[in-house]
Amino acid sequence: MRDDGGVEEPAIDPVGAEPATLLAADERFMRAAIEEALVAQSHGDVPIGAVVVVGGEIVGRGRNERELASDPTAHAEVLVLREAAHAIGDGWRVTGGTLYVTLEPCTMCAGAIVLSRVPRVVFGAFDPKAGACGSVLSVLDRPELNHRPQVQGGVLEPECAELLRAFFRARR
Ligand SMILES: [Zn+2]
Repeated sequence: MRDDGGVEEPAIDPVGAEPATLLAADERFMRAAIEEALVAQSHGDVPIGAVVVVGGEIVGRGRNERELASDPTAHAEVLVLREAAHAIGDGWRVTGGTLYVTLEPCTMCAGAIVLSRVPRVVFGAFDPKAGACGSVLSVLDRPELNHRPQVQGGVLEPECAELLRAFFRARR
């Protein structure tokens, strides 16, 4: 990871942590993101949820509010990064955190992730139609960009994907 400033200290050191410990923590926080996805679903939005975790604490929660807010940019990641930046209080930077989101971020959200400097991103389901973290585009590992977060996809993938499948099944 390369950066243009700011001290970055991941909540859990992915190198030092036991893989099983890291996976357990990732699954725990992905479940919190799934709870946010269910809130999105309750107001008629596609169920996508996100949390930002710093030092083992959730400092931001976000969910897709595109329909609720009539806002094409009200994706869970954008909203959670905004809330987390305020909570962390390091200006606009989301330093030392991990972003958990139930669906692979799109191009806009990958851009927001780069801008926020969040050091680590964990997502659940892959998005073969719009995913910008490897599926359609690979925004987060572009060597030209000044920030490249560590990315882990597929955490609780079956649960995260089933949420979306059930939502669209019910709408048909
Ligand atoms: Zn997005």
